[in-house]
Amino acid sequence: MKKKLKLVIASMTCCEGCQVEILNLGERLLNIFEIFDLGNFSWVKEKEEIDYYDVALIEGTPLTDEDIQSLKELRKKSKIIVAMGTCAHLGGVQEIKNYTENRKNEKAKYVYSKYQRIENKVVVPLSKIVKIDYVAPGCPINKDELYNILCDIAIGKSPKIAPRPVCFECQNNGYPCLLQKGEPCLGPITLGGCDAVCLKSNRFCYGCRGPINAKSPIIKRHLENIKKLVGEKYLAEILETFGAEDDFIK
Ligand code: SF4
Ligand code: SF4
Ligand code: SF4
Repeated sequence: MKKKLKLVIASMTCCEGCQVEILNLGERLLNIFEIFDLGNFSWVKEKEEIDYYDVALIEGTPLTDEDIQSLKELRKKSKIIVAMGTCAHLGGVQEIKNYTENRKNEKAKYVYSKYQRIENKVVVPLSKIVKIDYVAPGCPINKDELYNILCDIAIGKSPKIAPRPVCFECQNNGYPCLLQKGEPCLGPITLGGCDAVCLKSNRFCYGCRGPINAKSPIIKRHLENIKKLVGEKYLAEILETFGAEDDFIK
């Protein structure tokens, strides 16, 4: 029997919603565990000391010294790291803190009695600290996409996400175009693969999966048009929601 690949599912600071999506794979988890030996996954088993992983799925952002240390350790031990979810990929909702004028625990003191002990670091995605091999984008991830990523890795293939914008799936699903109704949708410049789930609920795209092609001149043009539509402040709020402002505006 072929030796199983060693898998770790790890979490930095975040809501852990991407791990929930892994559990939502249901019976398909059994297929994964046919191929992968689960080294560590805190939701399912006690932590073990393991020296090597073939694949590390990491969600969240490295916001504390402990996170940063554990991320560096995982990089040393893992052949492949997949940044799982918007927090890991772009910074996520917690990156909003970077955009506020006052980062010095001013707000924290109203909530925590020992706020001085909070490590108030700048929020960065995993790639600012260690090399990342692949990304499973979205807040939360698309579980089907993650499943395909793991299947590709298992057969030695590089996982690829089709370079199509959210508009592609939106129009394939027959949803009405919110942009044409004057709403500030980021669908044309955002990497698809979420099946346009927000548009299904008549909500415009906030770009949680990041830019489809960060170097494309279309991004600048589209953002200029959105700015004319809703103003600079609201556009900034949209881009900041998932920590993607610095990814769209390079
Ligand atoms: S990407 Fe979204 S769902 Fe996943 S951990 Fe971050 S906040 Fe939670
Ligand atoms: S609603 Fe948004 S995602 Fe859908 S087609 Fe219009 S611009 Fe594209
Ligand atoms: S429609 Fe946009 S904001 Fe919604 S899940 Fe897809 S990429 Fe994210």
